[in-house]
Amino acid sequence: MRKTPVLYIVIPCYNEEAVLPVTAPLFLEKLSSLIQKGKICQESRVMFVDDGSRDSTWEIICDLAKKDEHYIGISQSRNRGHQNAVLAGLMESKSHCDITISIDCDGQDDINAMDEMVEQYMKGFEVVYGVRSKRDTDTFMKRFTAQAFYKLLNWMGAEVVYNHADYRLISSRVLDELEEFKEVNIYLRGLVPLVGFKSTQVYYERHERIAGESHYPFSKMMGLAMNGITSLSIKPIRMISGLGVAVSILSFLLIIWTVVSFFIGNTVPGWASTCAIVCFVGGIQLICLGVIGEYIGKIYLETKARPRYIISDRTYETEDDK
Ligand code: UDP
Ligand code: MG
Repeated sequence: MRKTPVLYIVIPCYNEEAVLPVTAPLFLEKLSSLIQKGKICQESRVMFVDDGSRDSTWEIICDLAKKDEHYIGISQSRNRGHQNAVLAGLMESKSHCDITISIDCDGQDDINAMDEMVEQYMKGFEVVYGVRSKRDTDTFMKRFTAQAFYKLLNWMGAEVVYNHADYRLISSRVLDELEEFKEVNIYLRGLVPLVGFKSTQVYYERHERIAGESHYPFSKMMGLAMNGITSLSIKPIRMISGLGVAVSILSFLLIIWTVVSFFIGNTVPGWASTCAIVCFVGGIQLICLGVIGEYIGKIYLETKARPRYIISDRTYETEDDK
């Protein structure tokens, strides 16, 4: 049997002044109830990661930290995106706790699933994925694009948990290993399964955002999808090679056809067909160049090995400050 763990709830926040005052007490309530039930230790914390918000999010976090010692916060030096904010929080907390649960701050994910997540950890699991049992509250477009994305990713060979977002429990032991994955372009949903260890799933219902607006418009979702695919799979490159072979075979057949036509004397200047072929091949070449460019861009970014997050402020003191 494991000893009662210290839990850090890691919550990324970007321009969330509308939601934070509403949801922060809910997180604390959950933490307190878990402490009271003896499921987690008194040293457990709710950690907010301010992702370079432009509004008063950081001020709200600082106020919360003053009100109750269970609230703590760190601030990224600028906006780096959801994934990097979560990573910053996880890496910051791993030396202080036994388990982390990452969750969005907008109240969409059901906090009551945390009880079961902790129970599963006690049973010996190192990673517990929160999986949405249904997503009635999402718009049709969001549901459709999200599901197409999961299917596509899996088909591309990247292992991701179906209908799982970034609501999950990870033990600090797994986080120590995750730290060794040095890539700058991170997609946690794909990375965590790669780290391995015993994992399981917990189901919950996803609600509507309590307030404020989603920061994931279609363009950002496409960005995340592209990042997910290109950082986890090289299948698109292989597909290009396959396409190249197919087009070459087709061209070869066309050449034979042209030569045969020539000898038959059937050589009407085929402007239309020539044009079509040129366009077709040109188009394919451009697509291929684009996909290859994606990967080269990634290599370029990775070779720079820039820091994945920079913490500028904390609501508490670290060993270095003292
Ligand atoms: N978020 C962040 N940095 C960003 C965008 C979003 O830390 O650049 C946080 C945001 O505050 C929220 C979570 O990531 O806690 C998920 O964002 P959102 O709810 O807007 O996305 P959705 O649930 O609509 O996919
Ligand atoms: Mg949300």
